[in-house]
Amino acid sequence: MTARLSAHHPPAHHLDDALLFDYATGALGEALALVVASHVALCEICRGTVAAAEAAGGALLAEIAPAVLAPDALERTLARLDAEEAAASPPPPGAAAEWRLPGPLVAYLGEDPAALDWQPLAAGVDAAALHPLAAPAWPMRTQVLLVRLAPGAMAPRHTHEGIEATVILQGGFADQFGQYERGDAWIVDASVTHAPVALPDETCLCLAYYDAPMKAVPLTPIVSSI
Ligand SMILES: [Zn+2]
Repeated sequence: MTARLSAHHPPAHHLDDALLFDYATGALGEALALVVASHVALCEICRGTVAAAEAAGGALLAEIAPAVLAPDALERTLARLDAEEAAASPPPPGAAAEWRLPGPLVAYLGEDPAALDWQPLAAGVDAAALHPLAAPAWPMRTQVLLVRLAPGAMAPRHTHEGIEATVILQGGFADQFGQYERGDAWIVDASVTHAPVALPDETCLCLAYYDAPMKAVPLTPIVSSI
């Protein structure tokens, strides 16, 4: 699995340890857990961190009275184990395999990812909303999108009311902070306005999580002084 899922180079942008720990302990909601699971499937370093957190958590759990655990703790842990099992199994044949998607994501795409409800966002940019498997709907205002950018296409310039968490699944893009390629993951908050541009050689596919709607930010018109 490692050889199949590894990028030609390891991811350079990782999720922070606190988020990985929350994932390992089953504390994340399904939407953010999907983003973390997708990065972890592509990143050996963060897989190691999650494994260490699980080992530490297991030791800790053994010392805590069961009454202290949240009522749904077992359910969340089992859901996470299912996701990890999926990470270890090969993707189904067809487009998902061509895209070499991380295992945890494949279940969210249905039989044919190309048949997802792709909606245009800008020239050369479209997005398809993913829906939860474990609940009828995401929490209010949460969105999970597959975003596809043609080579060199620019995403609409935007900021966020909440956070945006992104994992690059194929290709890559650049913004004012740097360049991101397959497996890279990062989180930006409401202080960031950016307009990522896909790298020139390949269609860029990424998984994006928003806990509040994206806000378009047009370029400020240049006002000439007299
Ligand atoms: Zn990582």
